[in-house]
Amino acid sequence: ARTVLAADLGGTHLRAAVVDEGGAIGYRADHPTPAEASPGEMVQLVVDLLAEAVRASGERPAAACIATAGLVNANEGRVIFAPNIAGFRNVVLTTPVAQRLGIPAFIENDASAAALGEHRFGAGRGTRHLLHATLGTGIGGGLVIDGRLYRGAQGLAGEIGHIVIDPGGPRCACGSRGCLEALVSGVAFAARARKLLEQGKSPVLKEVVGYDEPTGAHLFAAAAKGDRASEAEIRNGGHYLGLGLGSLVNVLNPDAVTLSGGLLAMGEMLLGPMREAMRSMAYGAAGSALVRLSELGENTGLLGAAAVAFERLESA
Ligand code: BGC
Ligand code: ZN
Repeated sequence: ARTVLAADLGGTHLRAAVVDEGGAIGYRADHPTPAEASPGEMVQLVVDLLAEAVRASGERPAAACIATAGLVNANEGRVIFAPNIAGFRNVVLTTPVAQRLGIPAFIENDASAAALGEHRFGAGRGTRHLLHATLGTGIGGGLVIDGRLYRGAQGLAGEIGHIVIDPGGPRCACGSRGCLEALVSGVAFAARARKLLEQGKSPVLKEVVGYDEPTGAHLFAAAAKGDRASEAEIRNGGHYLGLGLGSLVNVLNPDAVTLSGGLLAMGEMLLGPMREAMRSMAYGAAGSALVRLSELGENTGLLGAAAVAFERLESA
């Protein structure tokens, strides 16, 4: 079967895989995203990772697609700005990959790719209009409209993490204030955990965190141990998430809203208040009834990148 090379560059993980047309993953590699790197080092890392995937798999992929968190210019193969990846700004990724591997290379925003991945291989199968949200270090969004990825005028569409939900809210990495991502995301929950620790209100959280750098996972672990303050932060985040997604449902009237990403591990503590907010603001279509959780797990981004590569090959 024909295969493609897929990479998924997020705020926390850097993954690469060889994927076939049925969405089956052959070789797969997973690295932590470096906390500090220059643009040149990041490009080298990606190129090496993909070259290693080809070598180790023994496959001859027909094309490569790199899905990356942040704003991308697909025509130029350029990452414009990635708020949660250090050093990833104004770099051309596709040319070095194409040159090293001798195959066509494409780039796509990670969440837009994930939307196409869910549509082709996952929980969005059979839908015509799909809204996908990735709930991880940052919050990403992707739109499939009439069965095709909606990229907007300049390929920048779908940035649902940066709709402003609370103008008086916390600063976002994009420079704005009170973005969805500044209220509910891995980054936002880490900030909420730090704040609780500073206030000294949560001995359970303090114990869970120990000497580590606080994360959203700590916040959830403390909440799961019965810490009320930590649980309230997560539920509040879920409420905001629902306001964001509910607004988008009112605008788009999609067939389904698919969700993926590490925050799904928070389960109903996050999703209950989210559904409730979506229900409360539904104008027409019942937003919360449209929600479907991804079944692709950690591979959503990779399968998304693969879906984009196949789409590009098909439309060439
Ligand atoms: C970025 C998006 C990205 C999302 C998920 C956000 O911070 O702005 O472009 O899709 O994180 O990685
Ligand atoms: Zn923002």
